[in-house]
Amino acid sequence: MKRKVAIVTGGGSGLGFAIAEKFVQQGIDTIIAGRNEQKLNEAKNKLGELCHTQPCDVTDLKSLPQFIQQIVDKFGQIDILVNNAGINMKKEFTDVTDEDFQQVIMTNVSSVFTLSREVVKQMLKQENGCIINISSMAAQYGIPKVIAYSASKTAIDGMTRAMAVELSPKGIRVNAIAPGFIYSDMTAKALDSDPERKAKVFGRTPMGIMGQAADIGEAAYFLASDSAKYITGVILPVDGGNSVGF
Ligand code: NDP
Repeated sequence: MKRKVAIVTGGGSGLGFAIAEKFVQQGIDTIIAGRNEQKLNEAKNKLGELCHTQPCDVTDLKSLPQFIQQIVDKFGQIDILVNNAGINMKKEFTDVTDEDFQQVIMTNVSSVFTLSREVVKQMLKQENGCIINISSMAAQYGIPKVIAYSASKTAIDGMTRAMAVELSPKGIRVNAIAPGFIYSDMTAKALDSDPERKAKVFGRTPMGIMGQAADIGEAAYFLASDSAKYITGVILPVDGGNSVGF
């Protein structure tokens, strides 16, 4: 099998960990990145030799070219980038400060642009590569009290389509996954503190259950694999039917 190298931002926990786990199971050298080194090391201990850690704060945009260059120097190639690191911020509309808004946009959008630009420079040399952005159904639906998050994920969808059209002639596919309600630290916190909302979420998900992080791992592996070689510019919902109706 041809060797493949992937980067998964936020790969130390939640959906990112599940994506890294699937990649490693499929024999892909997978670099997980995040701010918390202890979390990254714990993840590496679980995933084994094909998992590599590279600490990084994706909001430190100036450091990202060097972060990518270090990976290129060490591994010689980057085949897959999964822009998964993200934060949510739940506040009443008028309580959101300019700093709050900027922090979400920096983490969820600006970092995706800068990381992708640096990785694409390498992928253009290879004439091959695949980028997967983790969006959300918040890009499609109005969800109360997550104004910055919704704006950030809508930006991700737009970037995904624009990048796909510009880069696919050069052998680089760009897709996104729009998870619905998937069990992770992020959603558990939000839903456990709001039982009324939790009941609503379950009520409006046609499958009537929350997804598992592994469901996102499977979708990411599919989009990264040759099985998806004619797929680009897609925002793939993995949401138990949420985006279809209820
Ligand atoms: P978690 O909070 O469990 O994980 C987020 C990850 O992002 C962490 O590993 C964290 O690592 C990393 N991260 C956050 N900020 C930074 C930063 N500045 N620099 C580097 N890494 C950072 O969330 P999920 O796993 O649930 O979410 C993953 C992605 O999936 C996000 O983009 C989210 O918006 C999206 N999503 C999730 C849904 C769900 O239901 N769970 C639904 C829809 C979308 P560290 O703390 O070490 O920096």
